[in-house]
Amino acid sequence: MYSNKPKIVVLDAGYAGLMTTKKLAQSLLPEEADIVLVNKHNYHYETTWLHEVAAGTINPNQARFMISDVINPNRVRLIYDTVSEVKKEENRVILENGEITYDYLVIALGFESNTFGIKGMEENAFSIVDIDSSRLIRDHIEYQFAQYKTDEEPNDDRLTILVGGAGFTGIEFVGELVERIPQLCKKYDIDRHKVRVINVEAMPSILPMFDKDLVSYAVSSLENRGVEFRLGAAINECTEDSFIIGEDNEEIKAGTIVWTGGVTGSSVLSDSGFELTRGKVTVNGDLRAPGEENIFILGDCAWVMDEEAGRPFPPTAQAAMQHAYTCANNIKALLHGGSLEDFEFEDRGTVASLGVTDAIGNVLSGTKLKGKAAATMKTVVDNRSIFLLGGTKILLKKGKFRPF
Ligand code: FAD
Ligand code: NAD
Repeated sequence: MYSNKPKIVVLDAGYAGLMTTKKLAQSLLPEEADIVLVNKHNYHYETTWLHEVAAGTINPNQARFMISDVINPNRVRLIYDTVSEVKKEENRVILENGEITYDYLVIALGFESNTFGIKGMEENAFSIVDIDSSRLIRDHIEYQFAQYKTDEEPNDDRLTILVGGAGFTGIEFVGELVERIPQLCKKYDIDRHKVRVINVEAMPSILPMFDKDLVSYAVSSLENRGVEFRLGAAINECTEDSFIIGEDNEEIKAGTIVWTGGVTGSSVLSDSGFELTRGKVTVNGDLRAPGEENIFILGDCAWVMDEEAGRPFPPTAQAAMQHAYTCANNIKALLHGGSLEDFEFEDRGTVASLGVTDAIGNVLSGTKLKGKAAATMKTVVDNRSIFLLGGTKILLKKGKFRPF
């Protein structure tokens, strides 16, 4: 039906997009604007829990909830489709199965895996990017365990899991794997010592953003539970069943290979002709794309400059949700002829999990945490995020309330 109200289109229901939609629906009267939310699936998923889905320590359904459970479809038009391109000059978004026009656009399409052109990586390695790709890793690992038991001549390489990259995602993933492996060994009657988890990292250290004492703690904790680190060893190539690493081109064979070596912004940005720096748009302080009056870019699609530090803020869920508040306020200001605000990041700290009951973190302006205290903090952070997005009902259904 034709409407002459301004139309706000939000591209996707990740942290930034879902939160922006919620805020807009709360702060704008139905007479003031139409709101449309486009998302690939009819559910939102917690990207920050995907390493747990991939390792099999949580069920995929725990990490997702229906969008229509938190967004009123009578107020917001929900379109479940994949975005292909934004035609900026025509104020139009091309979807796989249609198109939609807009007056104001919010692009928050998240990240894609970045293999930096490493030979064979895209073809041969799994990556942790969404529910489906994470579930595939979980199922593949379990398949390798089941298959090992039926092989006529069992090859232990089948039980090796190679993880490329020891950033946050790689470390959190191996932390979950060492929780899951004993369960799989029990289920398939396999000796735990036959299973190897090898994490290969080009830099001399893991997680360089943490102080050395926390990093040493993390390395010892993971090594004690069976993770092998190959630090200072760049992955040069990924074959069907191995990594080729380091200056000597050493080959390490495995039955499961997962790339956690880097991410970049959605390819929709480049397909739509935005000017990019390392795959993302460097946005203005008010989170609009440079030169665009009516397009906001949020979350992992955006570089938001930390003017004090002279570099962008790290792309995190924490930041993505905060972008949403600024964006919703600024769209309201544009509709009402008010002035726009600049984004200000409120740093609540960083925690990296090392499995269910272990973690390291920097919280509350520099307090260092490790072990169960940090793991408890991580659970609080995870539950807070799902509460902010989904409210009490979703928190009670999907939240983490496990004993330590
Ligand atoms: P996302 O929340 O990732 O959402 C993107 C959405 O876009 C998805 O719903 C997707 O389905 C949809 N989409 C993508 N392409 C299309 C398309 N073409 N058409 C339609 N829809 C599309 N950050 C933290 O702050 N704390 C953590 O503990 C933490 N842990 C992490 C753990 C893992 C394993 C990973 C991978 C990341 C973690 N991060 C963490 C980083 C954080 O998840 C990201 O910074 C955050 O998800 C970015 O939010 P976003 O809104 O930009 O995108
Ligand atoms: P990342 O870029 O942070 O880490 C990738 C790692 O892979 C780096 O250590 C890099 O040196 C290594 N690497 C790259 N190429 C390599 C090669 N050829 N050989 C060996 N190692 C190689 O990527 P990520 O871990 O996916 O994280 C992405 C973003 O998501 C980060 O900005 C992070 O802030 C965020 N994140 C946060 C959390 C958290 O807060 N708990 C968890 C996960 C992700």
